[in-house]
Amino acid sequence: MQIDLRSDTVTKPSKGMMDAMMTAKLGDDVYAEDPSVNALEARVAAMFGKPRALFFPSGTMANQTAIKLHTQPGEQLICDKYSHVYNYEGGGVSFNSGVSCQLVDGHRGMMTASQVESAINPPDFYHSPMTSLVTLENTTNKGGGACWDYEEIIRIKSVCDSNKLGLHLDGARLWNALIAKSESTQQYGDVFDTISVCFSKGLGAPVGSVLVGNEDLMNKALRIRKMLGGGMRQIGLLAAAASYALDYQYDRLKDDHQKAKEISEVLNQMEAVFSVEPVETNIVIFRLNPEIEETLFLNKLKAHDVLVSDMGGGKLRMVTHLDYSDAMHIKLLEILSKS
Ligand SMILES: *Cc1c(COP(=O)(O)O)cnc(C)c1O
Repeated sequence: MQIDLRSDTVTKPSKGMMDAMMTAKLGDDVYAEDPSVNALEARVAAMFGKPRALFFPSGTMANQTAIKLHTQPGEQLICDKYSHVYNYEGGGVSFNSGVSCQLVDGHRGMMTASQVESAINPPDFYHSPMTSLVTLENTTNKGGGACWDYEEIIRIKSVCDSNKLGLHLDGARLWNALIAKSESTQQYGDVFDTISVCFSKGLGAPVGSVLVGNEDLMNKALRIRKMLGGGMRQIGLLAAAASYALDYQYDRLKDDHQKAKEISEVLNQMEAVFSVEPVETNIVIFRLNPEIEETLFLNKLKAHDVLVSDMGGGKLRMVTHLDYSDAMHIKLLEILSKS
C-alpha cells in the first residue's frame, strides 16, 4: 500500500466521477456549445455572485490570464514572497504579461493591508514600475495551507480601491479555506475582481480550473485563453468531473483537514522533528532537527512506501486528499510513531 502525500493533485478520478465523465453531454466549447462546460461555468459564476466564469485547463493558466487582464507590460503586481504566481508558474508573470512582482515579506504567505499599501509605487514617480495589481492566495500553498483573515482581505480591498489597483485571488484551495473558516463563496466574490479556483486539488478532478469575473473582464479573458492555447473542444468530459466534485467530493474536505491535524500531532511528538507549522487545512509543513539528515529521513519513509514533498530550505510537506484512505492514515500514524 503506497501512501502518497506529496500533493492533493495525485488523486485519480473516482468511479462515480468516471461515470459522470462518460455520460456527459458534449459539444464544441470553442463555439461555446458544450452544455456541460456551460453548466459548470454558470454554476461557479453564480456561487461567487459574478456575471461570468470561464473554464481553464489549469490553475496556472487561469492565474496567468487574470494577471494579463489587470496589467500592461512594464507594470508591477504585489504579492507575498511565497505566492504560487511568483514561485511556481514558470516565470509566466514576466513571460506572458511582461510584469514584475513586488514581493512582500508576509506571514505564512499572507500580507497585511499596511504591507500592501507600502509596496505600492507612487504613480507620479515615473522611474519605478506602475503598480496595477495585488494578488492574494487562499489557502496559501507554500504557507502550509494557512487561511486568510477575511477582515484583512477587506482592508486590502480598500487599499486597492483607493489606489485603483486590481485585486485577484489565486483560490486553488479556496474550497479548503471556506470549509475551515465557515465562509462563503459569495463573500469572496464580493471583494475580488477575479478569482481562480481549482478542481484538481482536494476536489479530486483530473483537470480543471475556473476563473470568475465581470462581463468585460471575462470577454477579454476568452481572447487571452485562446492566445495561451487554452481554447478546447469537447471538454464537457472535464467539466462533468468538476461538477461531480462539487456535488459529491466537497463536504469530505473536512476529513482531509482532520487527518492533517492528526498527522501534525504525531509529528510533533517525534524526536526527528524540530517543528510543525499549525495545521488549518490539508497541508502539513514541518522541519527536521538540524542533526537529522533529510535524505535519510525521506528514504526511511520511502522504505515504508510513504512519499512526502521536499519544499527546500529544510521544509517537508504532506498533503492529505481523497485517495488517502482511513487505512493509510492508521498505517502512517503507526509508522511515524515508531520512527
Ligand atoms: C496548484 C496551484 C495552482 C495551479 O496549479 P496547476 O497545476 O496549474 O493547476 C495555483 N495556485 C496554487 C496556490 C496552487 O497550489
